[in-house]
Amino acid sequence: MTAQSASLAGLDLRAEIDRLRKEKNAVILAHYYQKPELQDIADFVGDSLELSRKAAETDADVIAFCGVKFMAEVAKILSPQKTVILPDVNAGCSLEDACPPEKFKAFREAHPDHIAITYINCSTEVKALSDIIVTSSSAEKILSQIPRDQKIIFGPDRHLGGYLSRKFDREMLLWPGVCIVHEAFSETELLKLKAQHPGAPIAAHPECPPTIVDHADYVGSTSGILNYAKTIDADTLIVATEPHIIHQMQLAIPGKTFIGAPGADGNCNCNICPYMALNTMEKLYISLRDLTPQIEIEEGLRLKAKESLDRMLGMASGTVGMGDLGAR
Ligand code: SF4
Repeated sequence: MTAQSASLAGLDLRAEIDRLRKEKNAVILAHYYQKPELQDIADFVGDSLELSRKAAETDADVIAFCGVKFMAEVAKILSPQKTVILPDVNAGCSLEDACPPEKFKAFREAHPDHIAITYINCSTEVKALSDIIVTSSSAEKILSQIPRDQKIIFGPDRHLGGYLSRKFDREMLLWPGVCIVHEAFSETELLKLKAQHPGAPIAAHPECPPTIVDHADYVGSTSGILNYAKTIDADTLIVATEPHIIHQMQLAIPGKTFIGAPGADGNCNCNICPYMALNTMEKLYISLRDLTPQIEIEEGLRLKAKESLDRMLGMASGTVGMGDLGAR
C-alpha cells in the first residue's frame, strides 16, 4: 500500500467524489477506455468527439477529465475559462509521442501544397500546425468533404490514415505513428479465437493494423463499435479495441457475450492502454479535492489549435465547410 492510498483508507471514494463534484460544480467526463469504476462515476462517458462536444457545451466550473492528456487539453482549448483537471498528468499517448511538433512542422514545410488532416490524438502544438482535426468517428465525414484534387498529409496514426486511404481510394502522405495498444493485436490469435466462435462477428477500431481490420465485419470508432454491438443478431461479439469499452457493452446489452481480441500471448491484457490505466478513483478524488493537476495552455497556441478543432466540430456536424485554409 502506498502512503497516498494509506491516507485515503476508510474513505468512501464514490461518496467523496460525489460530494466534491457538487461542491466544486464539476463535471466528470470519462473515455470508454477508462476503468469501469471511473466510467460508472462519470457524468458522461464517450469517445473523443463526444467528449469534445461535452467539454465545449458544459456550464460546469470544473472539468475533471478521466482520459489522457491530449483529451484534457482539447477540453481546455474549447473551454478556456473552465478549470480542467486530469487525475494523472502522466497519462500520455503513443501517437502523441510519435509526432514531435518540430518534426511535423518540417514535414509540412517540405510539402507546401498539402493540407494537414490530423487525428485528435496529438499534442496541442501539432493541432496548431494542422488544418483540420478528425476523430475516428468524424474522419470519414470530414474526408468526404475534401476535394479529390487536394493533396493531404495525414498523421499521426498511419493505420487510421491507411484505412481511410484505402476506403476513399485516395493517396495521402502518412505520418508513421501507431497506437501501441491496437498494434498489439495478433492476427494468428484472432483467427484461432474466430475458429472457436465461428458465428461471432468481429468489430475493429481503425487504429488496428490491416491484418486485423481485414478480418473485421465492422470497422469504426469506439462509439461506432458500441452502436454496432446493439444492432447485431449474434449473441457473441469479438471486440478489437481497448477492452474497457466492453464495460459499456455489458451495461447496454447484458444478454450478450463480448470477447476482447487477443494479443500475441493469446489474451487481451496487453491491449489495456497503459496511459489510460494511470487514472484511478484515488487520483480522481485528490484531483477534485485539490483542483490539480490543471491543464494550462498559452493563449496564442490555444487560439491556433482551436481553429483546426473548430473546423472539425463544424464539418462533423455539417454546419461549416472546409473554408479557406490559410498558410500556417
Ligand atoms: S489507446 Fe492508443 S491511441 Fe488511445 S490513448 Fe492509449 S496509446 Fe493513445
